[in-house]
Amino acid sequence: ISTESQSILEAHQWLAKLYHHMLLNSKEGQDAYQYLINRGFSEETIKKYQIGYSPNSKEFVVTFLEKKGFHPQTMVKAGLLNANDQGEYADRFRGRLIFPLRNHLGKTVAFAGRSLGHQEPKYLNSPETELFQKNRLLYNFDLARAAIRKQKSVILFEGYVDVISADQAGVHNAVGTMGTSISSSQANLLKRYVDQVIICYDGDQPGVEAAVKAGRLLKNTGCQTFVARVPDGLDPDDFIQKHGGDRFKREVLDTSDTFIAFIMSYLRRDYNLQLEGDRIAYIEKVLQEVALLDRAVEREHYLNELASEFQMSVDTLKEEVHDIRGKNT
Ligand code: ATP
Ligand code: MN
Ligand code: MN
Ligand code: MN
Repeated sequence: ISTESQSILEAHQWLAKLYHHMLLNSKEGQDAYQYLINRGFSEETIKKYQIGYSPNSKEFVVTFLEKKGFHPQTMVKAGLLNANDQGEYADRFRGRLIFPLRNHLGKTVAFAGRSLGHQEPKYLNSPETELFQKNRLLYNFDLARAAIRKQKSVILFEGYVDVISADQAGVHNAVGTMGTSISSSQANLLKRYVDQVIICYDGDQPGVEAAVKAGRLLKNTGCQTFVARVPDGLDPDDFIQKHGGDRFKREVLDTSDTFIAFIMSYLRRDYNLQLEGDRIAYIEKVLQEVALLDRAVEREHYLNELASEFQMSVDTLKEEVHDIRGKNT
């Protein structure tokens, strides 16, 4: 890696420690610490994830980095400092909870800063650098890797907080994307370790839409894909805080649907199946999805289900899927 990246990497290791220290030991960090405790995080978890607090100051980080001899322009590139037209530098993360974002080797390469009040945006992330590419990094992969391997399964969350909360509740094979849908490079990384991926995104509308996208991509990558649904529009962390980890495992993870079953119920909402036109349109949509399934047994399973629900001949449906597949290839 370049000397610039080397220096950015070093600055991040120092700052992760410093922010964490401020959360645990400083007066300014007390409210942030209490916020985490009130949200149900234990001190052990806070330490494991090295969660920190960036003081609400313009020059806390400036001073620290200067003392350590870091080049300020490089630190601006890294998203640790801001620069103004007068060539003055100021801290970029101020008065925020800090989640260090670690790469697969466990090195901190970026930060996510969550506001504690009404400061916008809610999450301020580091910019992309040579070391940090949002669509390459899988949050918590370094810590979860052993559990992922052992359980031959991985659970994919939308938010950092969900990952941490799941881990604390005993679900250790948890990783997260950076608030965006999963990319093909992330999907390929997972595919190297597991056959099975459970998508567990927020139960709200954006979460459901993102699960559809992620599911298609993971399916295309060749993963057995399941979707766990968090009820009542909650997100995984909300559910765990409200109902506990055991219920999360039993009622959310263990009842996940196969991707195709999920997509069927998702598509269903757009149609009134009492109406013949809608019914046909719905069946067409489902057949499009079934046609994307690689395994013939899987296709057959869902065609049988459709056939019996709508009292159609399975042969007709098969023929249709066959045609769609012919066109796709
Ligand atoms: P919390 O529980 O602390 O409110 P969350 O993880 O539930 O956080 P969401 O609003 O559901 O937050 O967003 C999901 C994820 O999307 C976040 O964890 C973060 O990764 C990302 N995200 C949310 N808002 C932003 C933002 N303004 N900029 C960048 N990323 C964001
Ligand atoms: Mn959300
Ligand atoms: Mn959320
Ligand atoms: Mn949340």
